[in-house]
Amino acid sequence: MLPNFRYVQAKSVKDAVTHLAAQEAKVHAGGTDLLCCLRDRVFGAEKIVSISRIKTLRGISEASGGGVRIGALATVTEVAESPLIGRLYPGLAQGAADVASPQLRNQGTLGGNLCQKPRCWYYRGEFHCLRKGGDRCYAVGGENQFHCIFGGELCYIVHPSDTAPPLVALEASVKVKGADGSRTIPVEKLHMPPGTDPQRETVLEPGEIITEILLPPPPQGLRSSYRKVRARRAWDFALAGVALAVQVLEGKVRHARVVFSGVAPVPWRSKEVEQIILGKALDGETVAKAAEAAVKAAEPMEKNAYKIPLLKAVVEEELTAIAKLS
Ligand SMILES: Cc1cc2nc3c(=O)[nH]c(=O)nc-3n(C[C@H](O)[C@H](O)[C@H](O)COP(=O)(O)OP(=O)(O)OC[C@H]3O[C@@H](n4cnc5c(N)ncnc54)[C@H](O)[C@@H]3O)c2cc1C
Ligand code: SF4
Repeated sequence: MLPNFRYVQAKSVKDAVTHLAAQEAKVHAGGTDLLCCLRDRVFGAEKIVSISRIKTLRGISEASGGGVRIGALATVTEVAESPLIGRLYPGLAQGAADVASPQLRNQGTLGGNLCQKPRCWYYRGEFHCLRKGGDRCYAVGGENQFHCIFGGELCYIVHPSDTAPPLVALEASVKVKGADGSRTIPVEKLHMPPGTDPQRETVLEPGEIITEILLPPPPQGLRSSYRKVRARRAWDFALAGVALAVQVLEGKVRHARVVFSGVAPVPWRSKEVEQIILGKALDGETVAKAAEAAVKAAEPMEKNAYKIPLLKAVVEEELTAIAKLS
């Protein structure tokens, strides 16, 4: 059962920001994650501020200086099915298409997908773990099959979003509005590593909301893709995945961004893979070296070492696939 809270429908971004200044106020977009968290008492809220009727937060359009602007309330389906996104940033369209189920993609928004809470079963269950303000991480020495192999410190979640890794690979940023005005944050800097603060998932300050997601114009020769491996073919979160944004000119990689999903508490940029492929043709030898490099720094927990060969294979397959695109 949902706990009691006050509910307001904001009429504008300014109105939303004013309402969000209240203690323990939470943003409500599509509600697919927020309402589950409230129902399961993962956290409480005194006031829910719905932004779902703010028309200026909708839409996907070409930006004036090139690139694309996606309103924070664009649904995940709209992102997956947008001809503009499909043509310019196929990696993002694929990431969105891989999110959850059709019903959840129709209701869930891109802003909400970036800000969703982690799926660790201790956190979602009745355990008062470190992320909830407790004094220990139950995944350490516990059931850590689905936890991270990179970047674990204090807390060992994996970031749940399938749209964040392609957005980081594509060098997207988010525009944010709060009581102190607007700011723009690269998506690469949006998510908070647990070593910095294990109780926060993003660098957003209380009361700040994402208003839009901005993608830069794709450079000539850009190829992008997203590949996700899950335990079942039905809706499920990534066990391991990779988002690629690779610029290939005259058969060689001129610029590369490689970002893993399902293996780290934040979308995890692999500079090791990027360094191996930069300046090279994506032939069998380079791809094999890149796949080795992808997992070199992995630090598995007791029950998730299977993610190492899985990630290695995903990187190898996806680099091989992107090499064949023109
Ligand atoms: C069964 C199930 C399976 C799923 N599988 C996947 C999956 O495979 N891959 C994947 O990526 N996701 C998955 N999800 C997550 C789903 O995609 C998200 O729930 C959805 O995208 C969140 O969007 P929303 O608009 O409903 O957010 P809400 O539930 O409204 O909000 C989610 C969080 O973000 C905050 N928020 C929302 N909008 C903003 C904003 N504009 N600015 C600041 N904060 C904001 C809210 O306060 C809340 O904390 C799954 C969810 C479920 C329930
Ligand atoms: S991994 Fe993080 S969310 Fe999960 S139990 Fe440990 S501290 Fe809590």
